[in-house]
Amino acid sequence: MSAPWDERQRAMLAEMGLRLPPAPRAPLIEAEAPPLPSPSVVSAPPPLMGVPARAPSSPSGFEGLSLPALREAVSACRGCGLCEQRRQAVFGAGALQQAQWLVVTDPVDEADDGAGEALSGDAGRLLDRMLAAAGQSRTGSAPTAFVTPIVKCRPPRGRAPQPAELEACEAVLAAQVALLQPRLVLALGLQAARRLTGLAEPLGRLRGRLHRWRELPLVVTYHPAYLLRSPADKAGAWDDLCLARRALHSA
Ligand code: SF4
Repeated sequence: MSAPWDERQRAMLAEMGLRLPPAPRAPLIEAEAPPLPSPSVVSAPPPLMGVPARAPSSPSGFEGLSLPALREAVSACRGCGLCEQRRQAVFGAGALQQAQWLVVTDPVDEADDGAGEALSGDAGRLLDRMLAAAGQSRTGSAPTAFVTPIVKCRPPRGRAPQPAELEACEAVLAAQVALLQPRLVLALGLQAARRLTGLAEPLGRLRGRLHRWRELPLVVTYHPAYLLRSPADKAGAWDDLCLARRALHSA
């Protein structure tokens, strides 16, 4: 059973724009967090547009590198055409050794392409509050989550990454997984969600279900940049975080 939300987490939820009922005297987490979906709704994703949902493990020489060496290799990577117009590859940041959550986002925007960081602006601050409310963090002295884009280089003009680009960059993601050994994956946004689930469905149909990716539980939710534009959907994002939290505790 998951732990009840403490005062700090309630404060974080308030910052997300969500308010829970007053704290009960006895833990009432089950009232806020319905049970995990039954196994019948856990997806076994078929291939998406001819691309395997689980790409072969790294063919590109990333295996066996330390995290700093992998970051260095990615900064110089020319594994697909996205290297041509990037300003900086965005490796991601957070837990330095073992991560509880691996947060995989849609490709970075122009500002993050320049900064070399994933979710460095207002959307990143909202993500940090979402993670804190779920008992995770990507910053501080002991970060528990690692946040990284689905492709490390920004597609030109913000277009969606092509299947070949996604497949090439999954070698980097596979190496990150091998190093960080996450217990759960959270996909932020449609492009990350479709790639990791292998399902070409609307985001609304990918949310609310427990998927699997590389033997890991996978939960899909909205990208924080979308939530800034559509705050009414923060409640749905909160449901997704509850699902992720329960999946982690039951793993
Ligand atoms: S998107 Fe990934 S595979 Fe392509 S050049 Fe950048 S780091 Fe390499």
